[in-house]
Amino acid sequence: MNDYLSQLSDNQQQITRLLAETFAGANEELHLVGGVVRDVLLGRAQETDLDFATSASTARVQELLSAAGADSVYLVGEQYGTVGAIFTRSECPENVEITTYRSEVYPDETRFPEVAFDVSLIDDLARRDFTMNAMAVDAMTGALTDPWFGEADIALAVIRAVGVADERFQEDPLRLLRAARFVSQLGFRLDWETEAAMTRQAASLGRISRERILAELTSLLVGQYVDHGLDVLRRTGLLSIALPELEPLVQEADADLTARFGREKDLWDHTVRVVRQAPARPAVRWAALLHDAAKPMTRVLDVTGEVHFYGHERIGADLALRLLSRLNADKTLRSTVQLLVAMHGRPAAYDESWTDSAVRRLALDAGHAWTDLLDLAAADVTSGREQKRNIAATRVAGLSERFDRLQAEAALDRLESPLDGNDLMKLFHLPPGPWIKRIKERLRDLVIEGQIDPEDRDGAALIAKDLLSED
Ligand code: ATP
Ligand code: MG
Repeated sequence: MNDYLSQLSDNQQQITRLLAETFAGANEELHLVGGVVRDVLLGRAQETDLDFATSASTARVQELLSAAGADSVYLVGEQYGTVGAIFTRSECPENVEITTYRSEVYPDETRFPEVAFDVSLIDDLARRDFTMNAMAVDAMTGALTDPWFGEADIALAVIRAVGVADERFQEDPLRLLRAARFVSQLGFRLDWETEAAMTRQAASLGRISRERILAELTSLLVGQYVDHGLDVLRRTGLLSIALPELEPLVQEADADLTARFGREKDLWDHTVRVVRQAPARPAVRWAALLHDAAKPMTRVLDVTGEVHFYGHERIGADLALRLLSRLNADKTLRSTVQLLVAMHGRPAAYDESWTDSAVRRLALDAGHAWTDLLDLAAADVTSGREQKRNIAATRVAGLSERFDRLQAEAALDRLESPLDGNDLMKLFHLPPGPWIKRIKERLRDLVIEGQIDPEDRDGAALIAKDLLSED
């Protein structure tokens, strides 16, 4: 078996071999294609779903999948010729998608492509977006088909459009965001012609639905090289089109404001760094991107020459809500990001002199977003001076510990004897006396030790009876 196929997990290899034999038996071609081939070459295919392309018709694919023993076979998109299947025989179920070779012809920029089947593997690869995504590996022999030299581009860590870049982006402007998203996920750079075409075609992003824009931007934001991805958005002008709300912040990346506002640092640069430092979860990364978005609009210079951004948290929170609503984000993402932006400065104000109730109030205000808020506040420290960074980090850590301690104490307070004095007197028909305290304390100890449940009154009564009879 060829090297490429041996990069797959054992499970993936078994299914690939099974399908290869089934399709070969029916005289049909079968190739792994797209993201999985790219990930094989990157040595990270083990978690990627298996996508295949085949010469077989959609109806034939369904028959062959059933013959191969797939547990469920379903049509993903009949007009696109895709059949999905799940194999659950091994301990980890495997999803596969098999698409009949097809080509796409775009009659003009505004319409969906005309899909033609009955084409070759090469035609099928030609419709794909980037050279790294336009390769195939024969499921039987492991031979690589690579008409656009995607393997070389992966070795160079370059994202390059297949064919004429301007045309590819005109055909489907979603590819503009896919390019930036791959930069963020893989840390690759853009081929210069591809980037120049992206810049020229950026405006066509307006034709893409807001849900798809949101999905791509969210994937970009949680990428490992998110700073590279955001920089691509800015350089190509895609940022101004996809997120015009950030325009004032982006403008500052170019204008030299330090001259006018003294030691204040570049807001865009700061924003990108906060995003990169924040944990790779959608709500925190979105909040990091938007946390200072209202600063340019709220900036004032006081008589002493100090710069202030009065109310930028609240105005930024409104901006975040508007932006995410425009992109049709779900309610949870919208409200979490809004809350995080509104509250992002509060943990940094913490010091040990805060009362317990002040800490509780902050945690209560943050609610389910408490951990996100602490993570965002910890990321929102980009000072060049190490001492400043350490002080800020210690504050957030101190707040987090303080809250955990309060929680633990509150939990301890709830650990009580299941029976109180009145219960015990009624139970044993005895008058008040020191015996009550002794039994209650013993019962509470048992609760703390986890020997009895704080709600278990019957169990506690039995134990109390034993304790009394010890006297
Ligand atoms: P991932 O699944 O990791 O996001 P992927 O490359 O597998 O990345 P998919 O959206 O799963 O992306 O698409 C599978 C393949 O289909 C791609 O590798 C590419 O060959 C092709 N493809 C997907 N979207 C487009 C598009 N908008 N234009 C052209 N080809 C595309
Ligand atoms: Mg994929």
